[in-house]
Amino acid sequence: MTRIIPPGGIIGIIGSGQLGRMTALAAATAGYRTHIFSPHPESPAAQVSNHITVAEYTDKQALQRFAEAVDVVTFEFENIPDSSVHFLEKFTLVRPGWKVLHIAQNRLREKGFCKEIGGPVTQFAPVRDEASLREGFRNIGRKKLVLKTAEMGYDGKGQAIVESEAAALEAWEKFGRAECILEEFVPFVKEISVIVARGMDGKTEIFPIGENTHVHGVLDTSIVPASIAPATERKAKEVALKMAEELHIVGLLAVEFFVLADGGVMFNEIAPRPHNSGHWTMDGCVTSQFEQFVRAVCGLPLGSVARKANIRMKNLLGSDVEHWREILNDPNAKLHLYGKREARAGRKMGHVNYVE
Ligand code: AMP
Repeated sequence: MTRIIPPGGIIGIIGSGQLGRMTALAAATAGYRTHIFSPHPESPAAQVSNHITVAEYTDKQALQRFAEAVDVVTFEFENIPDSSVHFLEKFTLVRPGWKVLHIAQNRLREKGFCKEIGGPVTQFAPVRDEASLREGFRNIGRKKLVLKTAEMGYDGKGQAIVESEAAALEAWEKFGRAECILEEFVPFVKEISVIVARGMDGKTEIFPIGENTHVHGVLDTSIVPASIAPATERKAKEVALKMAEELHIVGLLAVEFFVLADGGVMFNEIAPRPHNSGHWTMDGCVTSQFEQFVRAVCGLPLGSVARKANIRMKNLLGSDVEHWREILNDPNAKLHLYGKREARAGRKMGHVNYVE
């Protein structure tokens, strides 16, 4: 559908975390209002939005009222039931649509999709029972594998490195025998991510690539520009663009890759929304990923993704946030805090963009 939502319109956002917060702030800058839908009455996004619906993601009545109160619906996270998204689409414009959410919600579908479009993907196998786990282990034929829950896993949660069938079985039991993916452990030298924006008219912009470092499965730092070979950059951008186009995304698609020792890339996962590894754009790019997201979702032309500076983005997890004063002593440190009251260990409390 080619509908433009002009400034003054209301953007409905499903989810209420920091991504919703930063989207709402960018929306306000562009003259839009936002309406958050989330089960949590207090949230980073609600603090900076105009309206909030507090309800479960399966509450059809609340979803309908929400859809009727906004001009377009988008998502700041993808783990909401498919049926709720279908339901929303009956009443309003949903960007990006149902299909990409369906794929991004499940690691088997994600890797299956990558394979289908001829993208570079590790060997993987579905685990649905003991027999498929054993079969997968045998078929992949490597010693070191990773077992991950197919759904609801993020930031390294629900995954285990397993070096024997017995260890894989034990991990699978620990995951409550949930549907899993068993995949090759990739001996990567770097991790990178590519964020593609695609507008209502099919035009695309690809943000400069960031190099990501994870600690305990959680993003710690993104450095831009990534120090990768031009061929690596070309390949990663080509695959990410193909994915965004095949999925007819209207919005953003973040694609994570592993970089191999020979410069090749291996797909890891997608997210159809702003991404933690794109936070550097807030202070390092002509158009931030959040502004770009708002532009795409509202059917406006996309902005320039030219990089203005070298940036090191550092996540502030848990008690890191207590160092805010020290951080601000560096005049080139741009501090972004998410307004979360409780600094639980590992919780994303904010980030700093060091403009270098
Ligand atoms: P994910 O939730 O899939 O993004 O995984 C979180 C992090 O775990 C990744 O960013 C990697 O650092 C690591 N990881 C995930 N899958 C693999 C793999 N197949 N091989 C090696 N490391 C992995």
